[in-house]
Amino acid sequence: MDSSRNFIRIRLRQLLLMTGGVFFLLLFVEALYALFDVPIPHFFLVSLVLLGGALCLVPVFKNASDVLRIIQGISELATDGVVITDKHNKIVYANPAVMDTYGYSFEELFGKTPSLFKSGIQDAAFYRAMWKSIREKGSWTGEIWDVKKNGDYILKNMRIETIKNSKGKVRYYLAVHRDLTEMQALQSEKELLINYDQDTQLPNKRYLLKRMQSLIDDQVPFQLVLSKVRNSVHLSDKHSQKQYTETFKELEKRLKKTVSASFYAQVDSEFFAVILHKRIKNEEAFHEQVQSVVDACEEPFTNALRFKMTAGALRFPEDGDEAKDLFNKAMVTFEISAAEGNRYLLYNHRFHKKLSWEYNVRDALYEAVQRTEFSLRYQPIVEFETGAIVGCEALIRWTSKTLGAVPPDSFLPIAEKYGFMTDIGAFIYETGFQDKRIFDQVSNRTLHMSVNASVHQFAEKDFADTFLRIVRDHDLPPQEVCLELTESSFVSDYNRLNKDLHALRKAGVRVAIDDFGTGYSSLKRLQTMEADVLKIDRTFLAGYPETSDGNLLKAMVQIGKSSEFSVIVEGVETKAQHDLLEKSGCDAAQGYYYAKPLSKDEFVSALKNS
Ligand code: C2E
Ligand code: CA
Ligand code: CA
Repeated sequence: MDSSRNFIRIRLRQLLLMTGGVFFLLLFVEALYALFDVPIPHFFLVSLVLLGGALCLVPVFKNASDVLRIIQGISELATDGVVITDKHNKIVYANPAVMDTYGYSFEELFGKTPSLFKSGIQDAAFYRAMWKSIREKGSWTGEIWDVKKNGDYILKNMRIETIKNSKGKVRYYLAVHRDLTEMQALQSEKELLINYDQDTQLPNKRYLLKRMQSLIDDQVPFQLVLSKVRNSVHLSDKHSQKQYTETFKELEKRLKKTVSASFYAQVDSEFFAVILHKRIKNEEAFHEQVQSVVDACEEPFTNALRFKMTAGALRFPEDGDEAKDLFNKAMVTFEISAAEGNRYLLYNHRFHKKLSWEYNVRDALYEAVQRTEFSLRYQPIVEFETGAIVGCEALIRWTSKTLGAVPPDSFLPIAEKYGFMTDIGAFIYETGFQDKRIFDQVSNRTLHMSVNASVHQFAEKDFADTFLRIVRDHDLPPQEVCLELTESSFVSDYNRLNKDLHALRKAGVRVAIDDFGTGYSSLKRLQTMEADVLKIDRTFLAGYPETSDGNLLKAMVQIGKSSEFSVIVEGVETKAQHDLLEKSGCDAAQGYYYAKPLSKDEFVSALKNS
């Protein structure tokens, strides 16, 4: 719709009406004169017609020329929205950009006030300040959140100018709107470097976070969809990098057009984020909305180029109120979605809590392995016969730069799941065996060094060979090293472990069944297990003497001894427990009663004093 022509058409209609009015007035006067038989003073009638016509034409052409002049003046800014209102703030003109952006026709806008665009995000004080500036300075410039006909919010940079007549009276208000996403073109080169992806020139993660934070500060509701291309390997084989990069630029345009995305960011080469401002009534509407984003992404670009997506989505303010936190939550949601093979998944705080911990640990472990944030503690193992420290168990400790101290029970299963155990295991064995040489020197004895291993480590190729190589690299006789494996791994994975354990024992390494009594191994199996040491779990000592008589523990020690194992009891915390064990016939014990796990230096001091 050409709105400037429209304006003139409406004014011409007014002109016709007024001319018609004057014509009837003329007839009326003529009839009056005929009635009273008075000759008509033609010059009077002609003057009346001319005067009426002139009166009509003056405002029409004056207004029209004003508007035409203004339209001409702003024609270069055609991509910006232009709205002209009269002195009563009624819309008399809106350019095509406004109608495109807001989704109204000119008829729907004409005669209305711009409050039609009000989003309700700015409060009354905001509008009071705006009008004060317009009245006093004749203009106002600022950012404003509007709402489109379809309910979407948009952020605009707006300039309002008053247009006055020669007597200084306001005749029109001229408002120029600029969609803030278009402001990208005005960013400085430095801003371009830090806020934009260097390949696609699209906003990057940093810019995304900035945009999210500013929406949060302004309390503007939004939805964030994080999405990744699932079939990228297949696509990048078939297409050049340039073609692939161009696709993302095309995708940005498509999402802005089809789902009214207000912001698009390239998080990494195949990962992008979209911000939308929809009025979401319920969960179902949110589903529909995210689905429409994914649908738009999966629409083929060419016959051979079609994305398959995985997405994670959430909402502000419902799911959080901090940009980084929301981004991380969306990322976790995305990861679960990807792991489950979904097209998309919506954030849910119930599953998130557990999984975000897992993903945080996983991400922190990447760093930990690079920077070696791990250390070892050594817990003394005390022999009953002599009362001396005969060995120690190396226990890992992790103080993460981002998460602080994380207990081994908490991070080791995650490290196993995500494949960090090869690196962590190598660190434990290298460090432990190196320190053992120092302990031997200080104590002038041959101490046993116990290290732990999980079945996952055994699943690695050549675990037994690698372990033996590290032992030999430190010039240690394998007999002085004990490898602890939980009883449950002997039960569930014994067939797989058997060969390796046999090889290790053949080379001289001692093998211990850790946490014995918790893994349900049959006593018959016990006799054929590839192991030398039984470490009875601390739960069998716990509660003695208050709630347990210790008989079960004594029986377990007997079984171990009669099956020719060396028996160690864990978790000795009191003198009473120590006394019970001394009489039970077990070989050695470990627990807070003797010492907590100690740092290398503390263990050296303990050895010197014993
Ligand atoms: P675990 O192998 O049974 O290690 C003994 C655990 O009992 C240690 O906990 C130790 O600090 C704790 N403990 C020692 N004496 C007492 C006591 O008197 N009372 C009580 N209540 N607890 C005592 P930690 O260091 O937290 O290790 C927990 C588990 O994490 C270990 O159980 C082991 O399964 C695993 N782990 C620790 N370090 C390593 C490692 O280097 N490699 C592997 N694969 N697993 C490890
Ligand atoms: Ca252990
Ligand atoms: Ca244990």
